[in-house]
Amino acid sequence: MKPFTYERVNSPAEAAAAATRTQGARFIAGGTNLLDLMKLQIENPAHLIDVNGIGLDRIEPTPEGGLRIGALVRNTDLAADKRVRKDYALLSRALLAGASGQLRNKATTAGNLLQRTRCPYFYDTHQPCNKRKPGTGCAAIGGFSRQLGVIGTSDACIATHPSDMAVAMRALDAIVESVKPNGSTRATPLANFHVLPGDTPHIETVLEPGELITAVTLPAPVGGTHIYHKVRDRASYAFALVSVGAIVQRDGSGRVAVGGVAPKPWRVEAAERALAQGAKAATEILMAGARPKQDNAFKVTLVERTLGAVLAQAGAKP
Ligand code: SF4
Repeated sequence: MKPFTYERVNSPAEAAAAATRTQGARFIAGGTNLLDLMKLQIENPAHLIDVNGIGLDRIEPTPEGGLRIGALVRNTDLAADKRVRKDYALLSRALLAGASGQLRNKATTAGNLLQRTRCPYFYDTHQPCNKRKPGTGCAAIGGFSRQLGVIGTSDACIATHPSDMAVAMRALDAIVESVKPNGSTRATPLANFHVLPGDTPHIETVLEPGELITAVTLPAPVGGTHIYHKVRDRASYAFALVSVGAIVQRDGSGRVAVGGVAPKPWRVEAAERALAQGAKAATEILMAGARPKQDNAFKVTLVERTLGAVLAQAGAKP
C-alpha cells in the first residue's frame, strides 16, 4: 500500500472543502472495497477523507410518502429497517443477498453504489485493463468471461456492476442526491447515475471530482409482490451470474431490473410492457442488442429462466 494522508471531517461542507483542498483525495466510509483496491495498488489516493462523522446515517420519511436514506446508512441497518421491509421488501431482499453479515455491517448506501467491478482482470495488475489503466486494452475480451457482461458493454470493457442493492433501487426508481465541492446540490435518477463504458470505462458514474453522495431517495411505495432472485455459483458470499429484481402487480404488470449482465443495473421499461405475455416476450426486449462472449452466452437464457421463475413465484404468467 502506498503512503497516504488521512483526515476526519464533520459535515458535508467540510468534506467538500477537503476534497477541493487536496489533489487526488478520496472519500472513505466503510472502506469495504476501497481498502482492498489500495492494498492491491489499483487505487492510490494521496489523501483519504473519512466521512463517517458527517451525520448522514438516518432513514427518514419524505413529504411525498417515500424514504430518504442517508448516504452512510449501513447495509445491515437498511435491510432491517421496518419501513423498508414492509414497503420496499425488494431492497431488503437484495441487500441480504449481497456479501456477508460482517461486510453489510460496514458497507454504506453510497459506497454500495460506487463499488468497483469484480472483473478478475481488473484486480490482476499484470493484465491489461482499460478501466484500471486507460488505453492498455482489455484482457477479458478474448479471456475467460463467464462472470462478465453481455449487454451495455463496449469494445473497451465488458465488466459488470456488482451491486445487488443497486438493482433493487433501479426497480424502485431511486434518486441519488449529491453535493458538489462548490456547495451546489443535485438529484440524479439512478437510471442516469452509472454510465456505460464506451471508450472511457474508467468513468463509471456522473459524479464530478470531489462530489459527495448525501442520500438516496425512494419514491412512495408502489405495492405489489417484491422478489429478488439471485443466481450464483455458490449459495452465499458470491456475486450474481444473473439476478432479477421484480415488483409484480396482481394484473401481471410490473417492473424488472437485472444484475450481473451489464455495467449498470439493467432495466428497459419497454420490456415491462410485455411482462403480462411472460418471460420470453419480456426478455426479448430486455436483452435486445446483447453481445455475449462464448463463455457467458448462457446469461441471456438465464435471464429468461430467472425472470420466468420470478413471475411464477408472483403468481403471474411465467
Ligand atoms: Fe478491465 Fe473492463 Fe476489460 Fe475487465 S472487462 S479487463 S474491467 S477493461
